[in-house]
Amino acid sequence: MRDKDERYYKAQLNMQQCSRRGLFRGLWSGVSKPMKATSTALTVRSVPRPPTAVDDDLLARLCNQCGACVTACPQHIIGLFTGLPELALDANSCTECGECQKACPTLALAGTGHSTGAKASASGMCIRQMGASCDDCVTACPHQAISLVPRGIDVNAEMCSGCAQCRVACPSSAIQMTMR
Ligand code: SF4
Ligand code: SF4
Repeated sequence: MRDKDERYYKAQLNMQQCSRRGLFRGLWSGVSKPMKATSTALTVRSVPRPPTAVDDDLLARLCNQCGACVTACPQHIIGLFTGLPELALDANSCTECGECQKACPTLALAGTGHSTGAKASASGMCIRQMGASCDDCVTACPHQAISLVPRGIDVNAEMCSGCAQCRVACPSSAIQMTMR
């Protein structure tokens, strides 16, 4: 009976190690790409997350809530407000530096996407609508997602990573960040 128990637990352990290796292999397959890649492939998010955070469901299982990403972020925009890493894009912007991903001891930030899950859009406060000359958001955007149109701007949602660098750069607070 004792032998049978030992065999059973060894088999369980092997099975767990195999599926763990499979999960890690799958997640790491896209991690070698540089964070500045143009991909803004969408990952399922309910709130803005660090750009390489995995889908919310998987994140809830992989994040051990250690706070390493919170400490590592030079922009101080990550908080564990509801237990999982979330970005306060109304307070600052994400520079897509990858420090949070490097600091994370699990695979919670080892996803293949490069979007916070938010997107930028212009409100009626853009000073170009009043005839002023300004291209601060265009210059600030690291993904060339913004173009000037007569009396305003146009944001290409496909190219926007939701970093909020344009929101920070805008002199009239005309850019808002909303979830996709
Ligand atoms: S990529 Fe850099 S700036 Fe963006 S949330 Fe992570 S640590 Fe902060
Ligand atoms: S449009 Fe704004 S939020 Fe989107 S990638 Fe460019 S700077 Fe970042």
